[in-house]
Amino acid sequence: MALDSKIPSGPMEEKWSKHKMDSKLINPANKRKFTVLVVGSGLAGGAAAATLSELGYNVKCFCYQDSPRRAHSIAAQGGINAAKNYQNDGDSVQRLFYDTIKGGDFRSREANVRRLAEVSVNNNDQCDSQGVP
Ligand SMILES: Cc1cc2nc3c(=O)[nH]c(=O)nc-3n(C[C@H](O)[C@H](O)[C@H](O)COP(=O)(O)OP(=O)(O)OC[C@H]3O[C@@H](n4cnc5c(N)ncnc54)[C@H](O)[C@@H]3O)c2cc1C
Repeated sequence: MALDSKIPSGPMEEKWSKHKMDSKLINPANKRKFTVLVVGSGLAGGAAAATLSELGYNVKCFCYQDSPRRAHSIAAQGGINAAKNYQNDGDSVQRLFYDTIKGGDFRSREANVRRLAEVSVNNNDQCDSQGVP
């Protein structure tokens, strides 16, 4: 059985931005009519739950540990790479994409890693404003 990871179609650099543009907009007044279930309360689940509820959706965030904070996310301490491209760094989305694929022994899903590299800067800024140490 082949699993369908539902990765958007199109060229690598455009997959996720195209998917974002193709997605239908939801009127703010209708957002409260949707209940979103988030499974897991690490940084990904926690951030998704907080962001979606701020947008007006009803959100239920589930975890199965003694505390919602008991996730891998609480163990990470070394920082997160982002293609910030400070002066003279020579950094870029493509470079972070390549380094991350290589660092993952070429076992990661390329489209998802590309997306990670694309959103890395905003993601770091968001974690910072959420108080992630
Ligand atoms: C020791 C350690 C150090 C790390 N250091 C770094 C670092 O320095 N920099 C870095 O960028 N990354 C680091 N990482 C990796 C990083 O922490 C993870 O990639 C990231 O936190 C994953 O976040 P997440 O929200 O996707 O998953 P998680 O934080 O793992 O959260 C997933 C949550 O889902 C819950 N869950 C799973 N299945 C279910 C279910 N069926 N029902 C309910 N809940 C469920 C889990 O219990 C967990 O709470 C480190 C990881 C570890 C373990």
